[in-house]
Amino acid sequence: MASVGQRDTGPEMRLRRALHRLGLRYRLHDRKLPGSPDLVFPRFRSVVFVHGCFWHVHKGCKFATEPASRKDFWREKFEANQKRDRRNYDSLLASGLRVLVVWECALKGKKDEELMKLGCEVDKWLKSTKRYGDVGTDGIVESTQSFESLVE
Ligand SMILES: [Zn+2]
Repeated sequence: MASVGQRDTGPEMRLRRALHRLGLRYRLHDRKLPGSPDLVFPRFRSVVFVHGCFWHVHKGCKFATEPASRKDFWREKFEANQKRDRRNYDSLLASGLRVLVVWECALKGKKDEELMKLGCEVDKWLKSTKRYGDVGTDGIVESTQSFESLVE
């Protein structure tokens, strides 16, 4: 959904610059793929999503706050976003692509050298055979509880 998150701004741009500097080449926002992943790495049969912690509900993250008013409205919205994400990851994985989610909190307020370090981790993941990964403030978590069933 195009209205969720911003394109070509802030955190995503910073990650892209770091990866580019590491010599990684990618396609952007491939609308032919489920969820139109932010970055596509055909060479590594991998896609990367840069997700806002609020909209995509980053579990246990301080930026994944629940608005105090209109609770039902937000709960439905968050649930719909999560369901859509899961469906997208599921189809991508099923088609043989590998999926890495980089949460915005992993990028926010990071200095260039920290971004390069993160870029190196992403680079390492791309060159691995891992199928699903999740990057928050603690670096890459190989699979989250919710996706264990998807990652064989
Ligand atoms: Zn987060």
